[in-house]
This record gives sequence, C-alpha cells and structure tokens, in this order.
Amino acid sequence: MTRRRDRSEQRWHGIAVSDGAAAGRVLRIHSGGRHSIYRVSLDPAEVEREVRRYRAAVRLARRQLLALKKRAARTLGDEHAYIFDAHLLMLEDRKLNEDVETVIRDEAVGSEWAVKVVTDRLLAVYDEIKDDYLRERSSDIEDVTRRLLVALSGESMGVRRLTEDAVVVAEELMPSTLAELDLMHVKAVATDVGGWTSHTAIIARGLGIPAVVGLRDFYRSARTGDQIVIDAGRGEVVLHPTPAALERVGDERREARATAARVAADEDLTAPLRTRDGVGVTLRANVELPVEYEWVNRYGAHGIGLFRSEFLLSHRGAMPDEEEQRAAYEELARVAGDDGVTVRLFDLGGDKLPGPRPEAGEERNPALGLRAIRFCLQHPEVLRTQARAVLRAAARGRIDLVLPMVSDVTDVRRARAVIEEERARLEGEGKEAGPLRVGAMIEVPSAVLVAEKLAREVDFFSLGTNDLVQYTLAVDRGNDEVAGWFRSLHPAVLLSIRRALEAAREAGIPSVVCGEMAASPAYAAVLLGLGARELSMAPASIPRVRRSIEGLEQGEVAQIAADCLECADADEVEEIVRVRLGGKWPNLFPPEILPPPKSRG
Ligand code: PEP
Ligand code: MG
Repeated sequence: MTRRRDRSEQRWHGIAVSDGAAAGRVLRIHSGGRHSIYRVSLDPAEVEREVRRYRAAVRLARRQLLALKKRAARTLGDEHAYIFDAHLLMLEDRKLNEDVETVIRDEAVGSEWAVKVVTDRLLAVYDEIKDDYLRERSSDIEDVTRRLLVALSGESMGVRRLTEDAVVVAEELMPSTLAELDLMHVKAVATDVGGWTSHTAIIARGLGIPAVVGLRDFYRSARTGDQIVIDAGRGEVVLHPTPAALERVGDERREARATAARVAADEDLTAPLRTRDGVGVTLRANVELPVEYEWVNRYGAHGIGLFRSEFLLSHRGAMPDEEEQRAAYEELARVAGDDGVTVRLFDLGGDKLPGPRPEAGEERNPALGLRAIRFCLQHPEVLRTQARAVLRAAARGRIDLVLPMVSDVTDVRRARAVIEEERARLEGEGKEAGPLRVGAMIEVPSAVLVAEKLAREVDFFSLGTNDLVQYTLAVDRGNDEVAGWFRSLHPAVLLSIRRALEAAREAGIPSVVCGEMAASPAYAAVLLGLGARELSMAPASIPRVRRSIEGLEQGEVAQIAADCLECADADEVEEIVRVRLGGKWPNLFPPEILPPPKSRG
C-alpha cells in the first residue's frame, strides 16, 4: 500500500462537532480493548525500570497463554490448542521484544506506547501481503498486542505529558481518556466514530477544541508526528497539509480569537436575561472537568445545571472514595455559589464509562443495559458512597442531585430510600448532612409518558435531550452510520419535551433542559417556544445563546414551536425553523447556524 508513505495532502470528511480550526501534529491514541494508549514520556532515569516492567508483562502474558493452551487442549482437544502456540511464539520472538525495548529506550516512552508502535509497524507489513491466509494472521498480532496491553495495565502509567501541538487522533475516545489527558495542550481531536452528542463531542465543544468525528477509516492512515489540520467548521481533516492550508488555519484562528475577545468585552454576561417581550430565562453551565470550572463564572452562568459526576472516575474506572467525592462536590458548590450545582448520579454503562465492573461493556445492548440509575441500584455500595458524599457536601453549599435515565417512579423511590438511609446513618455517626433536592433526568420515552406521576415524586426535572433523541428515535447517539437519523427537531422529540415541561409546570416543580440542543441558538429558541425557562450548556456556549434570546420574542417562538408540533417529520420542522427564525431575525439566526436546506428529489 503506497498510501502509508504518501506524504501528499489528503482530505477526509466527517461530522463537525465543534467550531474552529487548528493545525498540529498527530498524536495517535489507540483504544487497546477498552483502554486508550498514551504516549507517556519518561525521564531518562525511568527507562530501565520501564524495560523491566515490559519484561514482567511479557512473562505474565506468557503464563496466561500457557494456562489457556492447557485448558483449550483439555476441553477442545490438542488440535485446537495450536493457535496458542502461534501466540506464544510471537510473545517469545526475540526481534519483537528487542524492537519494543529499543523504542522504550530510544524514545523514552512507556511500554504501552512502544508495543503499539512496534505492532502497528508489523500490522502495516501484513496489510501489504497479497496472500489472504497470511494477511489474516494479522489478527494474531492484534490478539497478542491486546494481551500484552492488558498485562501491562496492572501497573501505574505515570504522568502524561503531551507536546504543545498534539492533535489527538483515535478510533474512539473514552471520556476517561479525555479526562486524563492534559486537555489544555490538546489542540484538536479527530475520531473514526462518534456523533454530535457523543462524549468526545460534548467535551471538545465545552473546551472549545476543534473536533471532527465519524471519519470512518482515518485512524489507520495517520501516524504519530504527521502534520495535520482539523477544520471543524468544514468537517474536514487535512493530513500532510500544504503551506497554503496551514496559513489559512492561522488566519481563521486569529479572527476567531478577535471575535471572542470582542464578545467578552462587549457584554455584561451576569445581568438578568429576558426576551424582548420580558420573559425571564436562566442559563446554567454543564461541566465535566476541573479546567471548565473557572468558565462557569467567566461566561455568566447561573450556577451549574449539570455536573457529569462519572468524570470523577479515573482512567481505569476506579471509583473515587467518599472523601474524594465530598471534596469534589464541595469545590463545585463553591464555584457555583448561591445558584448551586446539580450533581448527577454516576451515569455509567452504555456509551459512557464502563464502570468498575469487568463485565460492563460486554452487554449485547449496552445503551439498553445496566446503565445510569440501573447501575447504581444494582451496585448499592456505589450509590451509598456517592449519596453520603453529596449529603455531606450539601451541608456546605447548595447541591441538588439528579438521577439519570429513570424509567418510572420505582427508580426514584428506590434511590430516595437509599439516600434517606444514608442520611440517617450519617446523623447517627454525628456527621452533618445538608438539605438535598432530588430530581429526575427525563431522557427515556417511558419517563415522558409517565411524567405527571414522576413530577409528584421529585423536586425538579432535567431534560437530557441527547438521550431523549437517542431513545425516542432509536438512534445510537455515537454511531456515525446513523447520524442522519439523529434529528433533535423530530416532532416526536418536540412533543416529548413539551409534555415533560408541562408536567413539571403543573406539578409546580422547576425543569431545566441540559442536552446539547440547549447550546445551539436556533434549538434554544424552539425550546423556549415549547415552554423551557432554564437551559444548561457548556459555559462557552452561553454568550451566543444569551445574545439570541435577548433579541427574540417569546410570543413569536411559542407560535413557531406550536407549528413545529404539527409537523409530520424532522424535515418539515427544520424548514419552519429555518424560514421563520431566519426570516424574522436574520441577524440573530444567520444561515450558518440554522438547519441547512434539504436537497429534495
Ligand atoms: C443528555 O442525555 O442529554 C444529557 C444531558 O446527558 P448525557 O449527554 O451525559 O447523557
Ligand atoms: Mg443522558
């Protein structure tokens, strides 16, 4: 394959999930099974120890393979056990091991990375082999690689240092990987899979990092160190860019910085927000990572509307203990001030972090499996620890707790019972537990259909439109193959949102919309029209949503939303939104932030 050595400019197209453009050097991150692989830089003094760690992992992998071979021979017969011989030979191969150790020593990098570099090279050689049988042996290399990486994962990975211009390229990125990388140094992100509401996308937008996902087969073509341009505005990735392409990025970035500075200087982001006809709207912040905390106040958010607490889990899914969690929630409450923070119970499983359970991620249908509240109820020790930490932090600051993915009142009652037991236990221990409002995420169709009943059991609703779209339309939110079916403006979604908002209003409880829809001015306008008065979004999105809400009239968007509810499909709704919002307020809703016209026929 000449493609690998071809250094001429190549363009790839994917789904743009944030704004901006950046140029840098590729940092490939391999997802070895469920773990991502980093390029860990070592101090020269650490290199020999790393080589010993690698050798220990090889010995461990070898012992495992011998045991597996014995078992296979016993249960399947000798003729089936030979496959392990091939793997054992590979593990014992002097050249392979020398190559890995050379990379560790010469580049002063961690073993995981060295294994990847060497086995990637081998795989590239196999890719070029004409003989099908031999080419398929590459799966053996992949198996052995995985085994080595797992054997290595028992050890500490050390500090991750990224180069200043790292553009992360991966097949798929787990939120934990993003959380662990030094994100302030990540210039941009490009992944083979993912959609608008995948967590890579949410984080990238939150941090203002250009990101393009759904690039299908890009990962295999990029090599660490390659020059790259990510143009999120165009949904384009340019590998080996020409000097002209690099220059264009520089110009655009300078312009974007200038605009951001103008916006920040021009506006009082803390003044109460009202539409032109005087309807009050509250904008809150969604946060995941500590680097975002300071932006809550910088962008004038009224508290934190959603803290995705699963981001407290470490790379390996290790649970933070009660003290660590209490400290984190207290810090969030401090950042959020009088407006408070809504902490979401760990939303583990599904497309989220797998959680500290080895079998997680092996479910046949993880999005419909042991995720979120189900996971917490099934693992009461996890729920109890989190409840205690939240209750204790609530004695120091204003904290609400929201339960993700509830299906009905039973989920709420069971969780509340555990929380109250922990409150009593804390009091028995002489520890202070603060007042806690408990809310339900409305993100599953069954919760919408029983919203009136749920509204009587909780103190508030949080509408998670990302999952509501996923589950209402039966479209995997992280699968780029079906991204065309992920239509936030589908009338079924809008009817669900209206119903949930109405149920909350009738029960006299507040509701906040915290899915990605809230962060886009046109969608936010439709949400206001449907009756939303509180929106929560990535802090950096607040100024532009604020500007559009200030300029519109609630009466008018209510009429537009009512007409949208009458539509038969998402195309019709998008047409109304484009024509009516764009027609009435062309300065607030220029064509580039409206749904694009459909080319019919
Ligand atoms: C949602 O589902 O809309 C939501 C806010 O939560 P998450 O994206 O974390 O599932
Ligand atoms: Mg959700």
